Amino acid sequence: MSPIPPHGRKARVLKGARSEYGGETMTGEIYVLLDHSKGRVDTLSRETLALAQQLGHLHGLGVKALLLCGPNRSPVDQVARMRVDAALVVPHQRLDGYDPDAHCRALTQVLAQDRPLAFLMGHSYQNIDLAPKLAASLKCGLVTDCIDCRIDGESMVFVRQMFRNRINADVRVRSPHPWIATFQSGAGAGNELLEGDADVVERNVDLSGLPHRRTVVETVGAVKEKVDLTKADMIVAAGRGIKRKENLRLLEELAEVLGAELGASRAAVDSEWLDRDRQIGSSGQSVAPRLYIACGISGAIQHVVGMRDSANIVAINTDPDAPIFNLANYGIVGDLVEIVPALTRKLRQEKAR
Ligand SMILES: Cc1cc2nc3c(=O)[nH]c(=O)nc-3n(C[C@H](O)[C@H](O)[C@H](O)COP(=O)(O)OP(=O)(O)OC[C@H]3O[C@@H](n4cnc5c(N)ncnc54)[C@H](O)[C@@H]3O)c2cc1C
Repeated sequence: MSPIPPHGRKARVLKGARSEYGGETMTGEIYVLLDHSKGRVDTLSRETLALAQQLGHLHGLGVKALLLCGPNRSPVDQVARMRVDAALVVPHQRLDGYDPDAHCRALTQVLAQDRPLAFLMGHSYQNIDLAPKLAASLKCGLVTDCIDCRIDGESMVFVRQMFRNRINADVRVRSPHPWIATFQSGAGAGNELLEGDADVVERNVDLSGLPHRRTVVETVGAVKEKVDLTKADMIVAAGRGIKRKENLRLLEELAEVLGAELGASRAAVDSEWLDRDRQIGSSGQSVAPRLYIACGISGAIQHVVGMRDSANIVAINTDPDAPIFNLANYGIVGDLVEIVPALTRKLRQEKAR
């Protein structure tokens, strides 16, 4: 990624980007919602902001971060150190913790007033709940679960995967601004988020008369991993393609002869073939072994972000167009029920020599 010019550039006015609300010309600004917990901006929001920074740099668009928070304004200090044209902070008692009614009304007020070009959010469970409500409230188009975004002429093209990640669809929105989009984990590079010295601008919202329809009773954190795959030298990973639990035995035998650990895609974990602590990906562990053998794994972005740093990737898949082959150093197109035992046999023979 090329470095972004110093903070303070002027937002470009996009030709023809007109609002259907009053017809005023929209300035080309991208707003990004920063979700946070325990006083820290979430990784997914950092990734989404990094993507917006990249777009802003390439196309001369302004980028602003939007933080909804309680009266203590946490984590505003962290946001102020990000390279954005402004950090818009909306502090309110009703925004201390997630309340869909309050979050939606606050965002509606800010976005209806500013009408940025686009409003980007991480594709978190919270935002899956919030985004459609917000889009309906603003009467704006919404594209969910995006993996990328680019500017094409005067439109923004949102890229999302379809048909079990086999094809990428380009989606353009033909609604008033802001175009709302949620981005998958891994769409932006959180470690490339640029730091700066943002102007913090406080925004007031009117949340009076809003009913209390929902109370958060308890927040349950993710289960702590018992198996640490991050230190594994080799991993044999099972995907939905193993089809039934009995076939796991084939992978266990391969792992045994290699001295490898077993890993899994979320689909394999959801099928209850392997324990959740063996899941690799955005909501599992991130691994970087010397050898990663992906068996019956398609290569969805949420899996790939957890294993793409592996030194050598071998993919076994019946579908020659599976996205995992774009990443693999060695690809074997075929049925894992035949390939995996053949590999195990060959390795045993080599070891016996
Ligand atoms: C918020 C969120 C978080 C997520 N987090 C994660 C995560 O942490 N980790 C993760 O993995 N996913 C995660 N996912 C899910 C992810 O989007 C994919 O659905 C998942 O990775 C798919 O798993 P898979 O590749 O095993 O299954 P599929 O996509 O169904 O792929 C199965 C593959 O097996 C192949 N196949 C079928 N039969 C055979 C055979 N006999 N031999 C060889 N190949 C065969 C098929 O061609 C196909 O490519 C997440 C999704 C969301 C929305």
